[in-house]
Amino acid sequence: MANQTHLGDLEVVSSPFLTVLNDLYSKYKTLNEGTLANYIPELTKVNPELFSICLVTVDGHTHEVGDYQQLFTIQSISKVFTYGLALEDHGRDYILTRVGVEPTGDAFNAIMLDEQSKRPYNPMVNAGAIATTSLIKGSGPTERLNRVLEMFQRYTGHDAFVDISVFTSERSTGHRNRAMAHLMLNFGMIDKNIEEALDLYFQQCAVMVNCQDLAVMAATLANKGTNPITGEQAVDSRYIKDILSVMYTCGMYNFAGEWAYTVGIPAKSGVCGGIMAVVPHKMGIGVFSPLLDVRGNSVRGVKVCEELSQQLGLHLFECSTNESRSG
Ligand code: GLN
Repeated sequence: MANQTHLGDLEVVSSPFLTVLNDLYSKYKTLNEGTLANYIPELTKVNPELFSICLVTVDGHTHEVGDYQQLFTIQSISKVFTYGLALEDHGRDYILTRVGVEPTGDAFNAIMLDEQSKRPYNPMVNAGAIATTSLIKGSGPTERLNRVLEMFQRYTGHDAFVDISVFTSERSTGHRNRAMAHLMLNFGMIDKNIEEALDLYFQQCAVMVNCQDLAVMAATLANKGTNPITGEQAVDSRYIKDILSVMYTCGMYNFAGEWAYTVGIPAKSGVCGGIMAVVPHKMGIGVFSPLLDVRGNSVRGVKVCEELSQQLGLHLFECSTNESRSG
């Protein structure tokens, strides 16, 4: 049965995983709370009913339920990967001078910088992600975009494309993000070509993925940066701990503390309704359901991850047995 699953023993758990996913899918399919992100007009066209859950283990086994092939734009989940690319481009020390690693306790789109250092607080909030993206190397906007797309390709195992309507929609309405870029420019924290940086940021947010991709990408992070399906190294393993640390403390925005307490694994959400969670050395989890709570996290996605963590004993600091976990 599902509650007997032990992750130390990956080869014997494939069917219990699917049972757990099917049960969670049926349980939460009827939960219709939350709202679509509407500040990016194109995102209001998404079908709010869509729902999928996918697990990919580090040995490449995939378990999925629901609309797992449905494409959507990755939005904020992209921040995790461009942070990794920026670390590869410049190294940890330099990146730390540009973007901090402190959780904010504020909304993802807060217009704020650290008082003292003038750095954005962390790479998982918008200001930090724009700063990170502005550091991606390349001879011009096309080369930088291609490097970002190639990076996504290493993580998913297939070509990456930008949803041009969502990109254009955000580019023409993203004045808040533009304000953040101007604030950082004012303090000399970002290169003067802010429109180029914003374009690349909006493009990375509009990269199309499905729920299965999210789980494979998460499994790649769980697997020291090597894609468990293709065997390709997507990111230098020395940066995995930086990436997972900021996901753990900042990935769910102003829900990050509660998430760390209840779910207990590094994760990142996006206003697309996706959540990607990483169980280090074990598996990646993707959940997609577009209706969001007030913090911009998928309502069903949070519930599913809470229960998955509970049932499978995924919390990083879990010490108890299956039987004693429920209390
Ligand atoms: N593209 C979105 C923005 O910048 C991403 C935000 C998110 O997914 N939380 O506002």
